[in-house]
Amino acid sequence: MSDPCSSPELITLDEAIHKIIDAIEPLTDAIRLPLRDCLNGTLAEDVQSIIQVPPFTNSAMDGYAIRFADYQDENSVFTVIGTAFAGRPFNDSVAEGQCARIMTGAVVPEGADTVIMQEHVSRTEQHIHITVPPKNQANVRYAGEDVQVGDVVLNKGTLLRPSHIGLLASLGIAEVTTIRKPRIAFFSTGDELIPLGQALAEGQIYDSNRYAIHSLLTELGAEILDMGVIPDERDAVESAFKSAMNCADILLTSGGVSVGEADYVTDTLNKVGQVNFWRLAIKPGKPLAFGHLGDTLFFGLPGNPVSAMATFYEIVLPGIRKRMGQPFSQRQRFHVRLTDKLKKAPGRLEFQRGVLSHTVKGELVVGTTGKQGSHMMTSMAQANCFILLDQESSGAEVGEMVQVEPFYGML
Ligand code: AMP
Ligand code: MG
Repeated sequence: MSDPCSSPELITLDEAIHKIIDAIEPLTDAIRLPLRDCLNGTLAEDVQSIIQVPPFTNSAMDGYAIRFADYQDENSVFTVIGTAFAGRPFNDSVAEGQCARIMTGAVVPEGADTVIMQEHVSRTEQHIHITVPPKNQANVRYAGEDVQVGDVVLNKGTLLRPSHIGLLASLGIAEVTTIRKPRIAFFSTGDELIPLGQALAEGQIYDSNRYAIHSLLTELGAEILDMGVIPDERDAVESAFKSAMNCADILLTSGGVSVGEADYVTDTLNKVGQVNFWRLAIKPGKPLAFGHLGDTLFFGLPGNPVSAMATFYEIVLPGIRKRMGQPFSQRQRFHVRLTDKLKKAPGRLEFQRGVLSHTVKGELVVGTTGKQGSHMMTSMAQANCFILLDQESSGAEVGEMVQVEPFYGML
């Protein structure tokens, strides 16, 4: 028998991603939501500012606002004429030889152009001396230096993270038009799977993928439809696919896409939609089904738990992001020194589970989590990154530079 790993039918990760991206139409239905409900949403339109930020010229320090031209040397004396607080401006102007006490965020009074930090001042009752030579315009934050009226601050398609929510709030924007969240249905297939809370009988395992997928989709900000475990029966599988088609934008399943699965899964998929069964040149995660069931996008993940998660991150996620209206972005990858020897057979791109850490000298290095079986969820849980080993590589030695993909920021 020929080695299935060298089969010409294997397709590369990049090919699979591009086929998926090309086949997906983004959702376009937009809804207006209060800003706080927009986290993890996708902007449906460019956002332009209708104010300037900062809205007024203000102080970056607690100190004294002066006219820079009045400073000659450490003997220059300034008379304190009042105080400008944040939110309570000092409504007089600062004239020659005068200064105003000023707090961080307070409007810089008329006439003044420079703020001296209070640590650089010696003060008597009504006067100050400046002890460290100041710089012209020091510690002043200018109106509009961050954002001008009319600036596009965020582009359509932006995934709204906490920093974007903060930026929109700083512009006074209370409602945002986002693309509606995708409704993502999922179910597990397999007669060996039982729900949590029951004792395992011989041959049974817990349906862990459904919990991992539920968590991934929750972090993604999708609307979730958990359809449970579907037994390995023709009618049950067919009716599960049909009901998902009626209500979901995307359907994810786990299990049942490997070669040698009961025929009715593939039969049913081919009957109700257009689905490709791919063998990917990646490990873990060789089998993947992708296609359309009517208007519903379908991803059939492999059943092995590590394969299911790796395939989700690497292939399904870019597809879901496209459906959510977000532009494709390459995952962050970089090279670090390896602290353990890694074994690998040539043939597939491997995503081994790794732990990024710092040496005492502060160098970022990566080691292995140990055993790499695609059924071993401990390897995923202990890891904080994937270590990528090229298709043709046959392993890596201690001290070699290897490519890693950190888990943070994956979602
Ligand atoms: P399959 O892709 O259905 O051939 O399953 C491959 C392996 O993954 C088998 O050992 C299954 O028992 C296991 N598996 C399938 N579905 C799940 C699931 N939902 N949770 C945990 N393991 C699973
Ligand atoms: Mg199965």
